[in-house]
Amino acid sequence: ARIGIVGVGMVGSAAGYALALMGVAGEIVLVDRSPALAQAQAEDISHAVPFASATRVVAGDYDALAGADLVILAAGVSQKPGETRIALLSRNAEVFAEVIGAVRRVAPDAILLIATNPVDIMTDIATRLSGLPPSRVIGSGTILDSARFRTLLGQHLHLSPQSIHGYVLGEHGDSEVLAWSSAQAGSVPIRAAAAQMGAAITDEVVARIDAGVRRAAYRIIEGKGATWYGIGAGLARIARAILRDEQAVLSVSILTPEVVGVKGATLSLPRAVGRAGVTADLLPDLDDVEADALRRSAQMLADLAAEVKL
Ligand code: ADP
Repeated sequence: ARIGIVGVGMVGSAAGYALALMGVAGEIVLVDRSPALAQAQAEDISHAVPFASATRVVAGDYDALAGADLVILAAGVSQKPGETRIALLSRNAEVFAEVIGAVRRVAPDAILLIATNPVDIMTDIATRLSGLPPSRVIGSGTILDSARFRTLLGQHLHLSPQSIHGYVLGEHGDSEVLAWSSAQAGSVPIRAAAAQMGAAITDEVVARIDAGVRRAAYRIIEGKGATWYGIGAGLARIARAILRDEQAVLSVSILTPEVVGVKGATLSLPRAVGRAGVTADLLPDLDDVEADALRRSAQMLADLAAEVKL
């Protein structure tokens, strides 16, 4: 399979690196506004390949994306001092208008995987600009937040995160919702499992894990300016589910006709992901507090997306 990555700064290049190590694609094509950067990233990543897989990693222009099965969009511009969020969004919408037009011309059958932040709004913009069905325009959303949630619950219970089932819903950002009431260890509800294992989930534990998930990006940005490895691996995980037609359940963001009474929000839910993109949603049972929080998150996202004129 052929995967394109448009925008190979920190996030796009980390996705390329993770994909090369994972070996899910035959060829990865890197495209950037700066051809010199794309060339340098391709050369650097291709030097990791002999240790891991047989992936070809090349730089190219949009024509090199012809026949791509999947294109990851990680292109974007960063916030100028004093710039409002909506002004930044408009500038990123302009970048997407250019990029998506070019990608659609050469790779009309490609699924789009969106990484540019704010990812839910950029996924909404990409859906509108591309004219593709929402099932084929997928934002990385809370893939990483859910991974952090499972990791922290696993640490508390001394269990592998692979054996913890729990999802973060809604916005990838401040209003996200940790779905505690449906989380499980094995097939046991998380609080019952914690009681059985003598590691009760007290209010203090809930607060610590919530902050651990919700504040992770802020902590990392404080230390190193930006985040890229985690999201790079998360993007590669979604790409693998698509290319191998896994029908894996992952929390990803797509335009959602209706959820908890809110229409037309682009947000994350656990969803089945495979070769056709998203084929099903698996909204967990929510308690009243979680449902209210998800409603607020969804409404905020729908309102903000409506403000972005294309
Ligand atoms: P991040 O940390 O989100 O990866 P970067 O600034 O490191 O942010 O990367 C963004 C990348 O997107 C840069 O390499 C930039 O050149 C690229 N880019 C910006 N605008 C365009 C565009 N119109 N077409 C292609 N690439 C673009």
